[in-house]
Amino acid sequence: MGNLIEGRAIAEKVYVDLRTQIAELKTKGVTPGLAVVLVGDDPASRAYVRSKDKMSRELGLHSVKLELPATTGQSELLARVEELNRDPKVHGILVQSPPPKQIDEAAIVRALDPNKDVDGFHPLNVAKLAMGDSTGFVPCTPLGVQRLLIETKIDIAGAHVVVLGRSMIVGKPVALLLMQKAKGGDATVTVAHSRTKNLDEITRSADILIAAIGRAHFVKANQVREGAVVIDVGINRVEDKTTERGYRLVGDVAFDEVATKCRAITPVPGGVGPMTIAMLMSNTLKAANQTSRT
Ligand code: NAP
Repeated sequence: MGNLIEGRAIAEKVYVDLRTQIAELKTKGVTPGLAVVLVGDDPASRAYVRSKDKMSRELGLHSVKLELPATTGQSELLARVEELNRDPKVHGILVQSPPPKQIDEAAIVRALDPNKDVDGFHPLNVAKLAMGDSTGFVPCTPLGVQRLLIETKIDIAGAHVVVLGRSMIVGKPVALLLMQKAKGGDATVTVAHSRTKNLDEITRSADILIAAIGRAHFVKANQVREGAVVIDVGINRVEDKTTERGYRLVGDVAFDEVATKCRAITPVPGGVGPMTIAMLMSNTLKAANQTSRT
């Protein structure tokens, strides 16, 4: 398909650039380090952590994978985060979400050294994104969405971007990022959510539609303008007895019907997903660069 935005290929391009940066840092005696912390045994979280660890090893980073039992308490986890905060070999720390119920996730995020918060969820980094301070860390999925648009040479400046979803992980930060007065920004952004009235009218007015709501095949062809660009962030499981696992992954967009009328569209899987990990690696390098300069 000619209008497919190939996230995997674009992520590979990012890795080529990152490998050069890593080699440069290593000549200065710095090996960028990433610590990924998993609490519990949620299968999806375990799979995410495995792929993050695998990618950091492939790139030659110092990779720490900390797997803690599901019974880990708040103070034990805080103590491990503090250790990683102090470890000079670790430049980036990520605590895989969601943690088990007994963990206060917001308190864990606040305990992270903001200079190592490569997920970009610490309040200081959220504030820096809102203020347009480029020393902060931007959450990986929004950063991946922006990079996909830039690499595909889609004009963001002046475009009407409609974001479906207002989570702190995707919706809000992607809106902030694309409206910034900066390269890769300057969009006119509308954020829609479950209480939005006249949703179809709003989505049809989008030059760029970003779907991040977590509902399989929610966006239909009649909600998309002819020639729009569609970025599908959603990852949803739908039953599929023909597969070994009994399910397959689909996005928030009814791909087959929407793809025929839009200018460009991301597939699921293989669109935004690979970019999220690539941007995590990119943020880790940024952390290593910023720390080694100070
Ligand atoms: P979330 O925290 O559940 O937020 C969903 C948002 O969608 C909420 O703001 C909600 O509105 C809105 N929404 C729900 N139903 C709606 C409807 N019928 N009409 C309009 N808005 C509606 O989800 P999330 O963490 O942002 O994730 C969204 C999706 O992206 C999920 O499928 C997730 O798996 C995926 N994801 C993918 C990646 C990746 O790497 N590709 C990364 C992160 C997330 P209210 O605020 O009003 O409830």
